[in-house]
Amino acid sequence: MIIILKENTPKEFVNKLTKNIKSKGLQIDISKGARKTVLGLVGDTSVIDREQVQGYDYVDKVVRVEEPYKRASRSFHPQDSIIDIGGGVTVGGKKIAVMAGPCSIETPDQIEGVAKDIAAAGAAMLRGGAFKPRTSPYSFQGLRDKGLDMLVTAGKKAKLPVVTEIMSADKLDVFLKDGVDVIQIGARNMQNFDLLKAVGKTRKPILLKRGLCATIEEWLMSAEYIMAEGNHNVILCERGIRTFETYTRNTLDLSAVLAVKHKSHLPVVVDPSHATGKRWMVADLAKAAVACGADGIMIEVHNDPDNALCDGAQSITPDMFTALMGSLRQLAPIVGREI
Ligand code: PEP
Ligand code: MN
Repeated sequence: MIIILKENTPKEFVNKLTKNIKSKGLQIDISKGARKTVLGLVGDTSVIDREQVQGYDYVDKVVRVEEPYKRASRSFHPQDSIIDIGGGVTVGGKKIAVMAGPCSIETPDQIEGVAKDIAAAGAAMLRGGAFKPRTSPYSFQGLRDKGLDMLVTAGKKAKLPVVTEIMSADKLDVFLKDGVDVIQIGARNMQNFDLLKAVGKTRKPILLKRGLCATIEEWLMSAEYIMAEGNHNVILCERGIRTFETYTRNTLDLSAVLAVKHKSHLPVVVDPSHATGKRWMVADLAKAAVACGADGIMIEVHNDPDNALCDGAQSITPDMFTALMGSLRQLAPIVGREI
């Protein structure tokens, strides 16, 4: 961090400020120019409140040279992280991880049927929501604990690790006891800091979705919350952000995949289902995600989308999913990846 002082800053102010900064354990390089004095702060600048310093008399500008996140940053961990899900499945590295399954778990037949079909098509993980974050309290809220049991059973039968969303830290014990393999933090909870801290205390892989209106930096700061508690098994998921456009449910920000991979060592997966809300767009955007460097994709697949209890319009059928996997198998080697 660099603090640029205004012209004619009194010596007393410079002394007071440097003393204050040094008391926080930082070192300071002072550079006195003809007109301005520049303070270069060396050390862990996360203890400095940038906005507060910016507000001081005589402070002209505060420039950050380092990112506010450390554990998530590529500068602190240059090599790509590979997250081990167990059962031979990883996210990050050369292999593209494909997660698929219905928005919500509805019946044992539904989840087991989809699990069997996606496993046959080559998916690496089964997704399904038991605790659903719905905009309306009158919409289907998920089968909750019963749904969780159905998902875990379906995953075991199809030999696929399972990923499912947690909405409250109260449920963490049940998620761990039931053997959920990847805990999803949904877009709406990306900044539920107590929940982030709670999952940070586990060592389970966490799929952290980008918030509807979150900047890339805010998203990485949420990853930092989890990592600061000791859990470095974080997978980021771009699922579309809210823009002025209404044709699609959200706007898929594929440039975020490149930005995040530039800034962070964490793997990034793309969810084109929630990004678009439109079944016919899902496969092509999944291909675009793989082409631009995503480490995985998350796709909603339903065996009867027209009668799905949640997100049917964006769910593809098992046949469509099988066709998509065929295309991805052709595409992956072109971009140096495999499925
Ligand atoms: C989901 O994955 O079903 C979901 C609710 O996603 P998001 O949090 O991205 O809306
Ligand atoms: Mn959904």
